[in-house]
Amino acid sequence: MTQQPYGLPPCPACGAPRAAANGRSCVHCGAPLPVLEPPPPPPRKKHTTLWIILGILFFLLVCAIIVVVTNALAIIENGGVLF
Ligand SMILES: [Zn+2]
Repeated sequence: MTQQPYGLPPCPACGAPRAAANGRSCVHCGAPLPVLEPPPPPPRKKHTTLWIILGILFFLLVCAIIVVVTNALAIIENGGVLF
């Protein structure tokens, strides 16, 4: 039983285990080893919290605009003087 210390497939020519994880050729017979593709990057975390915060801020902004507009309209109806 051949050992695979790096969890990589052994040499396809002689079956010797790889001497290094990034070895390009077999240390036993010199045959070129298939280049392993790098592991896929981890999936990006969804910025759910960020979007929730942005939603809350947008909601507060809309509320502030509504309050300002309604107050301005009420002040204008009462006399047209803002201050
Ligand atoms: Zn080999």
